[in-house]
Amino acid sequence: MIIDAHCDVLYQLWKNPEWSFEHSPELRINLERWLENDVKVQCFAIFVPDDVPADLQFHAALQMVDIFYDQVLKSHPNVKMVRSRQDIELLKENEKGAMLTLEGCHPIGHDIIKLKTLIHLGVKAVGLTWNNSNGVCDGIGEERGAGLSQFGREVIELFNTYEILTDVSHLSYQGFWDVMETAKYPIASHSNSYKLCSHKRNLDDKQLKALISKQAFVGVTFVPEFLTGHKNADTKDVMNHIEKIYRLGGENSVGLGSDFDGTAGFVKGLENYSKYNAFVQELKTRFSTEFVQKLTHQNFLNNLPT
Ligand SMILES: [Zn+2]
Repeated sequence: MIIDAHCDVLYQLWKNPEWSFEHSPELRINLERWLENDVKVQCFAIFVPDDVPADLQFHAALQMVDIFYDQVLKSHPNVKMVRSRQDIELLKENEKGAMLTLEGCHPIGHDIIKLKTLIHLGVKAVGLTWNNSNGVCDGIGEERGAGLSQFGREVIELFNTYEILTDVSHLSYQGFWDVMETAKYPIASHSNSYKLCSHKRNLDDKQLKALISKQAFVGVTFVPEFLTGHKNADTKDVMNHIEKIYRLGGENSVGLGSDFDGTAGFVKGLENYSKYNAFVQELKTRFSTEFVQKLTHQNFLNNLPT
């Protein structure tokens, strides 16, 4: 069983309305490949690009929710929406779980009811920012590097009450520490080790150890630039980042957050969804079976409220 904490298929389908979730070969993740691999649960992020005018951002987010309901959930009778650990545990052997997430709070502006609406529609994990800044916090690309705003603190309170995972991937350094102080359910859905690859999107050892001390989930991501710092990466590079987090004590934290369909680059040997099973076989040649279980799904499950 594999649980993948991050992908951008909804964004690709929104941007390319002529594509279909079922078969489009341009998509790294499509139904055809999903039915053939061991991915049990896929997280689908709503990601609104920053060139959408501010007054249309929430509308774009709702369009992606619509794509999730109308294309992903309706793509096959065995695809079920999941929002909790119990939902996943109740999936039958041939069923797949789809979880809705939000990457960046910019579409909600300063409006908590917009955020609550997305939660009511099923969003279970929320990345506070993309790389830029928004009403909640600064992202890692904003030079100012501010942490949570007053509104951001209200948002975290809401997440704590509604048992929503607070995702620190993309967040500013200060924002990261503010979240670690205030959020009950912090995770990093798609970030790697800064020590191995000094990309600003990665987490340094201090940050990783802080997540590990809470047994918070850290999804290693298949983005070449975050693995090696350049356009080329292979599955060994992915395993090096996994091992790095493991060696920091992250046996019960590290997992997978592919970012399939989120970037143009790809890892050699992990080009798309059809390569996942072979990758897990490769993991078993380097790590114990027990750890591979934790890495592929158990650590994510343990982070999900019931
Ligand atoms: Zn991302």
